[in-house]
Parts: sequence; C-alpha cells; structure tokens
Amino acid sequence: MSHTSVQPQNITVLGATGSIGSSTLDVISQHPERYQVFALTAHTRISELHDLCVQYRPRFAVVADPTHAQRLQSDLHTLGVATVVLAGPQSLCDVAAHPEVDVVMAAIVGAAGLASAMAAVVAGKKILLANKEALVMSGALFMRAVHEHGAQLLPIDSEHNAIFQCLPCNYADGLAPVGVRRILLTASGGPFRNSSYAELEQVTPAQACAHPNWSMGQKISVDSATMMNKGLELIEACWLFDARPEQVEVVIHPQSVIHSLVDYVDGSVLAQLGNPDMRTPIAHAMAWPERITSGVAPLDLCALARMDFIAPDLQRFACLRLAIESAQAGGVAPIVLNAANEVAVAAFLNERIRFTHIPQLIEDVLSTDIPGRIDTLESIVAVDQHARRQANTWLQKQSITAGRRA
Ligand code: NDP
Repeated sequence: MSHTSVQPQNITVLGATGSIGSSTLDVISQHPERYQVFALTAHTRISELHDLCVQYRPRFAVVADPTHAQRLQSDLHTLGVATVVLAGPQSLCDVAAHPEVDVVMAAIVGAAGLASAMAAVVAGKKILLANKEALVMSGALFMRAVHEHGAQLLPIDSEHNAIFQCLPCNYADGLAPVGVRRILLTASGGPFRNSSYAELEQVTPAQACAHPNWSMGQKISVDSATMMNKGLELIEACWLFDARPEQVEVVIHPQSVIHSLVDYVDGSVLAQLGNPDMRTPIAHAMAWPERITSGVAPLDLCALARMDFIAPDLQRFACLRLAIESAQAGGVAPIVLNAANEVAVAAFLNERIRFTHIPQLIEDVLSTDIPGRIDTLESIVAVDQHARRQANTWLQKQSITAGRRA
C-alpha cells in the first residue's frame, strides 16, 4: 500500500518549543502525507507555542500556567485556530496517552518529562525518546512498562539511535547471544575538551552553552561541557540495550561524525555515521523500519578528511566518573545523580556556582545516604525530591561560605 493512501499518523510533541521539538516539527513539515501534529506542549515559551499552533493547527496545546493557557486560547480563537489549550502536568500526560495519538516525541528536558513519557508508555504508544533523564531515573520501571504495555521505544539520542541501527533486530534477548562484545559510545568532549582544570574554574554559562558541533538546549549543552551528558547516556544505553556498565565504553571523537559503534566478538565493529544534525535520528525513529528524507546534507568524507579518537579524562571530567559509579551502584544512585545535576546546572546557569562546583555538589549529594525505593513512579519522584533538597542545602552552605570569604 502506498503511503499517500493511508491516514497520516497523529504525533504529540512534548517539548515542542525546544531544540528537539523544533527539529521534529521540521521533519514533520517535510512529510505532511505521513504525519500530522496532534498536540504540542511548551513550558515558558508561550509566544513560540502560539506561532507553532498557527502553523501546525494541533488539536491540543499544553502550557504550565492556567492564566497563560487562557490568554493563548483567546488569541488563537481570535485568529480562527481551533486548538484547545490545556494547562498543567496532568494535561501533558493526557495528550501523550490520548487514544487518537499514534506517536509521542518525548522531548521535555529533565525529570519534568518523566510522567508524560511514562503515560505514553502505559498507553502503549510508539515513543521517540529524547528525554534521557526519564530513563536514567526510572530505567527498570520504564523498560518493564514498555514490555508490559506493548509500547514501541525508539531512541532519539544520536548515540543510542546509532547503536540501535548497528545492532541486529533480535538484540532484545541480550547482547551476548547476538555476539556483541561491547558498545562504544562516542562523545564530542564538549567545548572544554582540552582545557586545564584552572581554565575550567573560569568557564561562564555562555561559554559552556557554545557547543562546537551541536546546537542544543541550555541544560544538555552544559551537560555536554561537563561530560555528564555522556554519563547519563551510558546509563541510558544500559537500559535500552540491556548492557552492563562495563560493556559500554566512552570514546571521545571530536568531529561528532561517528555517532557510536558496536563491537562484535568476531572483531567486526559497526558504526553509524552522518552529519551532526538531530533530524537524522528523528527521521530514522519516526519512519522506522522505513527510511525517509530528513533535510540533512549528505556526509562529505573527503571534506572531513580525518577522524580522531581519545580516551576521556575522568579526573578533569568528574561528572562522567560519578555517572559511571552511579550506573555501577544502581538503586537510587542514578536518580540522585540526575536530580543533583539538574540543581547544579540550573545554579551554574544562574551564576550562583562555578562550573567546577557542579561535580562537587553532585558528589557530596551522592555521598549522603538517601533512602528510597525505585519500584513506582511515586517512590522515584520522592527520591528525586529528597536529592533536590540536599542539593539546595549544599547551595545554601556554599553561598554562606562564599559570603564569608567576600
Ligand atoms: P530545550 O531546553 O531546547 O527544550 C526543552 C523543552 O522542554 C521545551 O519545550 C521546554 O518548554 C520544555 N520544558 C522545560 N521544562 C519543562 C517543564 N517543567 N514542564 C514541561 N515542559 C518543560 O531542550 P532540548 O530540546 O535540547 O532537549 C530536550 C531533551 O532531549 C533533553 O532531555 C535532552 O537531554 C534530550 N536531547 C537533546 C538533544 C539536542 O540535540 N538538543 C540531543 C539528544 C537528546 P519551554 O521552552 O516553553 O520553556
């Protein structure tokens, strides 16, 4: 059957005003016969969401604040746009789980995206997962729910999408039976790959957000600069591909052209390459198992000329070490790591702490004994909240100490 004769798939884009959200909408625009926007969600960028609603005419739009929702609703009504505007976290879950939705792009940043991503899973949707923090926090619960509810989970992170493309289709029964020795997770190394510790101490938020190869949201840009992003991705890879932390090796590859590799026991190493543009993994996951155009230019290997590979320095990039240790420890450790990191990154972006304080805060919070269970969404959120309180206490002590020094 040709695709022009079938109904377009309904897509909900959670985090539509973000970097992944806008790349997703770009790919959707290129294939109107295949996809139509069902719901778009935003948090603070209401005027951007307004413009997206005018352009894509979704059935629903979701914002955080009811007053913003009312104003947006009336502005859209005046323009003759029939979108229904909802507000609040439960509405995010509702538009993810709506019976008419076929595909959900989970692209809210951080722990805030967990509940709606899980709602899509429990409703058995096809989920395109960009929100790695959801899997870091709730990996066991999330993967169990995927299997129990027959959801289809496709990774959007370029590395995980690359690994998915390099694995055989029957990898779900375990990596050893399909002959995988290890996964090689590539990292650009971020903007401070060659900086000394003394230079790292002086890094500003603007410098940290200026990634050499990728254009991304602020939080993931800082995570890339600290290499926490690679640590979160290592944990994500363990859940997605049922790997042990020691089966995932991080390799710095500054050109960001090889998006990751799979090393097989016979010595074969399969890699996925492409220009660093998130529209490739997004288009891949949207159309899988078919292929569609994404708007990304073909890779010019001769212009690239060389590719470099370097082992990461776990001393200078302590966030990566802390993430590896948390992956090995399991239990609540990845939840605490993620929560402390979110608080630390926000404090750094608000110029409350230095760049080099980020791993110090996380390590100190990880060393406090945070009790808790990881078998329900509520217990996971409780651990997350506890860790955030510890992180905020750390920040208060830090500002008192800094005040005394001043
Ligand atoms: P952005 O900061 O660009 O966008 C985040 C989106 O989430 C925005 O739409 C934002 O709304 C929304 N949002 C933020 N906080 C909340 C909240 N409390 N409740 C509901 N919505 C919220 O992030 P990115 O697009 O860069 O990243 C999104 C996710 O994808 C992250 O988990 C990141 O790690 C992952 N990812 C990103 C990649 C990239 O290239 N950017 C690559 C691989 C993974 P608003 O803007 O209106 O405030």
